[in-house]
Amino acid sequence: MDLTVLSFENHGLVRVIRLGAKAALPAHQAGHYALLQFGDHPARPYSIANSPNHNYLEFHIKNGGHAGGSTFATTDLKVGDTVIFHGFGGNYTSVPDCPRPLILIAGGTGLAPMLSIAGASFKSNPTRPVFLFYGGRHASDLYFDARLKEMMKLHKNFSYIPALSEDLVDDIACGTIGDIAMGHPDLLSARIYVAGPVDMVRTTVHHALAKGVAPDVIHSDLAAMDKTQK
Ligand SMILES: Cc1cc2nc3c(=O)[nH]c(=O)nc-3n(C[C@H](O)[C@H](O)[C@H](O)COP(=O)(O)OP(=O)(O)OC[C@H]3O[C@@H](n4cnc5c(N)ncnc54)[C@H](O)[C@@H]3O)c2cc1C
Repeated sequence: MDLTVLSFENHGLVRVIRLGAKAALPAHQAGHYALLQFGDHPARPYSIANSPNHNYLEFHIKNGGHAGGSTFATTDLKVGDTVIFHGFGGNYTSVPDCPRPLILIAGGTGLAPMLSIAGASFKSNPTRPVFLFYGGRHASDLYFDARLKEMMKLHKNFSYIPALSEDLVDDIACGTIGDIAMGHPDLLSARIYVAGPVDMVRTTVHHALAKGVAPDVIHSDLAAMDKTQK
């Protein structure tokens, strides 16, 4: 199916792209990725950053600095261009009727599916607490910091906890985001989602299980990532 670039914004190395369609958009679930083909490059999975609506799909695509579809999407792609959509996938999606608080742990563009899951939770259960732990190495890695602070003002039940593992910045915790999230007092009563670089996801899931989190309330896309490293 052909999608069209509706708009984009650059946030450092990450381009936030909205895609629409002339026909009705296929319905996704929060947490899904879409297989997208940019130009002549092979299709790759990209997490959807918005909760389901009928108007657009939002993606956060990082320019990794190597020749490929992501670099094309973050440099050459223009408003009005066509992107080929090959379907949705993903091993984790939001659980709308779950009353547990949400702990969302993200690194890099792993933020995208967490935003989708948070948005779906605000709609289905507006009072459920949502804690978003978002980490990077350097301050510039927190490409959506300003937006996340705005989200905290809009949603009183939403907390954004950033952390940096290399830069020392006032008011930002220092350390790896998975380790910092493991100290949350609601860890054992929450539903937990993890997305980001594969090593960060693997380590965080492993630590959560070791702390006693039940396997059925911790969600990640490790299986898909092992095929295509994020
Ligand atoms: C479930 C899932 C969700 C994902 N969601 C997102 C997302 O939301 N946003 C996002 O930006 N990406 C996301 N990715 C990663 C994305 O799918 C691509 O794999 C990635 O962007 C690279 O694809 P590409 O087409 O640009 O490069 P490719 O065509 O895969 O590679 C082009 C060339 O660059 C080399 N190369 C590729 N990666 C690297 C690297 N890390 N270091 C050095 N050389 C490299 C390759 O060997 C090849 O020579 C996700 C991946 C998974 C599995």
